[in-house]
Amino acid sequence: MAAADHDHDHEDHDHGHGHGSELSPIEARVRALESLLVEKGYVEPAALDALIERYEHQVGPHNGARVVARAWVDPAYRARLLADATPAIAELGIGGRGGEHMVVVENTPDTHNLVVCTLCSCYPWPVLGLPPVWYKAPPYRARAVIDPRGVLAEFGVTLPDTTRITVWDSTAETRFMVLPMRPDGTETLDEAGLAALVTRDSMIGTGLPLSPEAAR
Ligand code: FE
Repeated sequence: MAAADHDHDHEDHDHGHGHGSELSPIEARVRALESLLVEKGYVEPAALDALIERYEHQVGPHNGARVVARAWVDPAYRARLLADATPAIAELGIGGRGGEHMVVVENTPDTHNLVVCTLCSCYPWPVLGLPPVWYKAPPYRARAVIDPRGVLAEFGVTLPDTTRITVWDSTAETRFMVLPMRPDGTETLDEAGLAALVTRDSMIGTGLPLSPEAAR
């Protein structure tokens, strides 16, 4: 092609994504939309910054821990959570992308639940934040299904032989969270004290909540 009608500065970048921009097409669209929305007065730049701050720093397993603690102290809430998790979680002001179709599965003395995404890394971001590296790693994704008891042992969780392990495969459509069993010796704790016992892994099923002694 003749170079005369071609913008030389951009040639090196022109590998199927056009314009020679350092931004990816998605980033460029986001940037353009942001500029437009701010210019039209639909959003405040500060509000956008707050949104980014929220996803980078504020969304995390402490959200899921609040849900679990509420379910432990409030049987009616627990029932709503198990029946239809998304609106029950929204009652606590928690929700958003990756949490639209939440299913909460309850651990009992008979059944322990373990969550995996065998295909990729689907994960309930609004309640648990960003997934741990091992959750996305092929060994966990494969072995959680084939040998869940062995995987749990590696996480330091040994369950009675009589406890059945049920594995739930998350997808982009449905994201699972485990409601762990309330630890013994927690009768005097308030909701915040209970939430402090709820670890991220206990809501994935690769861990158990802390005992009150361990939390101290
Ligand atoms: Fe996935």
